Amino acid sequence: MSTPENVDYDEIAKFEKLASRWWDPNSEFKPLHDINPLRAGWIDERADVKGKTLLDVGCGGGLLCEALAHRGASVTGIDMGEAPLSVARLHQLESGVDVTYQLSTAEALAEAREGDFDVVTCLEMLEHVPDPSTVIQACADLCRSGGDLFFSTINRNPKAFLFAIVGAEYVLNLLPKGTHEYAKFIKPSELAGWIRAAGLDMQEMVGMTYNPITQHYRLTPDDVSVNYLIRARKP
Ligand code: SAH
Repeated sequence: MSTPENVDYDEIAKFEKLASRWWDPNSEFKPLHDINPLRAGWIDERADVKGKTLLDVGCGGGLLCEALAHRGASVTGIDMGEAPLSVARLHQLESGVDVTYQLSTAEALAEAREGDFDVVTCLEMLEHVPDPSTVIQACADLCRSGGDLFFSTINRNPKAFLFAIVGAEYVLNLLPKGTHEYAKFIKPSELAGWIRAAGLDMQEMVGMTYNPITQHYRLTPDDVSVNYLIRARKP
């Protein structure tokens, strides 16, 4: 179900339903917990977030927001789910970090806060929106000139179908069935096209691979066949 504000409320509802377990590292959110230190480290090594203003779009329960706030960034997290935001607000009391959470789309925030952020992140969210290209344009508008942007999503090909849907949802039960829809996966070439169309420069791409035997994730520049992360820069 798409809406004029580019939100799929069926998708939001899926996350609302699970939100209370967001910070449980053995819940449906285990994959996000497992990749969080890797991606936070990758982002910080490149954007050097300490002392910078950072916006996380589609922040959910705040895993990335908190990790980057711990590294010294001044973080704002936005999401269209009330329940994930409530969980995020509660959890930060426990962790003692100071993140500003707000119910908003990137498109709506861009109208008021153009160029306000040094760093913009939007991870594991583009495959849940009706039109990812307008989210990317809004992220570009929200970022200051010379700032860094990070996007991650899931590739669309038979291997990604097998790993991200059949493997993760049906065989290993890492994610609830129906979490992801194959048609909404995004090829790196498509994401790169939207990034360029938004006036951004592509900088780098890295894959996130999962080994079901060791149950470990790794960042690998040479394998973007399933999960991947892209860094872009606003000129
Ligand atoms: N980025 C987080 C959470 C990923 S789950 C992380 O990687 O840890 C996807 C999140 O995107 C959910 O919390 C969902 O509510 C949110 N979302 C989906 N569509 C959205 C939209 N159009 N605007 C803002 N948030 C959205």
